Amino acid sequence: MDDPVDITRDYVSPKGFFHSTEARRLMPAGGVRFLDNAWYFGADGLGVVVVKTPEGLLLFDTMSTPEEFQKAILSEMPAAGLDPKDIRYVFVGHYHWDHTGGVNLIRKIAPRAKVVISEPDARIVDQSRAALLAGNKSPYPSALVSPRAQPKTPEEAKELHATRLLSIPQKFDILVHPEPGLKTGTMMIRTGAKTEVAAILDPGHTPGQMSVVVPVLHQGTMRKLLVMSGNDNPEEAMQYAISMDYLRSVAAQLGADTVINTHPYQSAMFYHLRQLKANPASPNPFAMGPDGVDRFLGIFGQCQRAVANRLKDGTWLAF
Ligand SMILES: [Zn+2]
Repeated sequence: MDDPVDITRDYVSPKGFFHSTEARRLMPAGGVRFLDNAWYFGADGLGVVVVKTPEGLLLFDTMSTPEEFQKAILSEMPAAGLDPKDIRYVFVGHYHWDHTGGVNLIRKIAPRAKVVISEPDARIVDQSRAALLAGNKSPYPSALVSPRAQPKTPEEAKELHATRLLSIPQKFDILVHPEPGLKTGTMMIRTGAKTEVAAILDPGHTPGQMSVVVPVLHQGTMRKLLVMSGNDNPEEAMQYAISMDYLRSVAAQLGADTVINTHPYQSAMFYHLRQLKANPASPNPFAMGPDGVDRFLGIFGQCQRAVANRLKDGTWLAF
């Protein structure tokens, strides 16, 4: 069934927050090639962006468990002509359990791959892993496999513990730091002779949330794709607004003219991905041009400010 859910619904407001069953609905087989050398794999609510460069594959985010990563991403890549063994860099947009689950598996299938994350979020993952190994309850439960999972028997608890350990990244290779005295910052990472990726810290959803700008091709022309990871966190809405101002200025400097979020319920991107899959010749709403990306980020920042103000005046209840 490819009928879109109601795209007029407000998925980021408290009652409409997108944790419905549709969020797990997988994309059509082989993922969606939304640019000449960029694909989206995964589900309507969560997925992975893959960019093919002359020097190998770049991945953005890794789903929630090794099993899910295998099923929704790795198993789908060959149909798109992509070999998981060619993965060279993995960018983890933030530490939450639904973005880090495939990291350990990538180490096995593509041992040369380097994993990039922000320093603030890497620290949280390390603390969570240490707490889990020590048998303590993690101070950051959402860094674990679904914090909502509640084992009913000792066997289930043992199984969950094992899955959680397999799903928490054991190590990272490149840490992106904020600028001294700030929470934001940008690091240019050369992933090959011809490719440089900007890793941009834009905290709000987590302390070290990270977006990237990567060169891509669209209809044979060089474009700059902004990949965002994550959604809201009303309690940090004002920080998020500041981060969006920062991201907007860096994206403009770098000439970002195309955008996607690995949580594609944002702006109903999952709906547009499905449309593109069904009709690849249709207009591409992701390639919105530099003005479009600037406007998109401006609106996003204003929304964060509105949330912060509504929390202050009591007209929005935090969830
Ligand atoms: Zn998250």
